[in-house]
Amino acid sequence: MSTFALHTSSVDATRALGEALATVVRGGDLIVLAGDLGAGKTALTQGLGRGLGIDDAITSPTYTLAHQHQGELRLHHLDVYRFEASAEILDVGLFELLDDSEAVTVIEWGDAIMSSLPAQLLEVQLELGDGDDDRIISLRLVGEEWAARRRALGEAVAPWTLEAEA
Ligand code: ADP
Ligand code: MG
Repeated sequence: MSTFALHTSSVDATRALGEALATVVRGGDLIVLAGDLGAGKTALTQGLGRGLGIDDAITSPTYTLAHQHQGELRLHHLDVYRFEASAEILDVGLFELLDDSEAVTVIEWGDAIMSSLPAQLLEVQLELGDGDDDRIISLRLVGEEWAARRRALGEAVAPWTLEAEA
């Protein structure tokens, strides 16, 4: 399994990283965002949206559960922090969203429902670093679809890379 260890030192850098990720995503992709409140999950999604040519303001879909935005691809943006049971996954139509081959699906707190998710995904884990604006960000490529993009992904995130492991 491939991982990349990254670092950003501002919210704008995390947005720029998200924008860089847009160069390697394809329709049908799933990105799981893990990390505590304030870690930067929504900031990263804002950058991804910008990279996909989405003009809407992207905010955390905490109360509505899922937001849709249209750019070069659609973006389905979910926050499952408040999900209590798998019934809510069905309520929000998660599996239909994941079947949308013209969309990228981003799930904040998605690690909490990992066992319900497909086996092809990019997991982005954000953690607080030493300074207030430092974030340690790790990418984990799960499944062949992502493994095949390892090199392209590594190039895209090179400006923020601390180390890469095979
Ligand atoms: P989450 O969705 O994980 O709860 P948000 O993206 O909504 O987090 O908020 C992140 C907060 O942390 C914002 O207030 C942002 O300005 C701040 N911040 C400071 N440094 C960074 C950084 N390097 N990356 C992302 N956010 C940062
Ligand atoms: Mg958020």
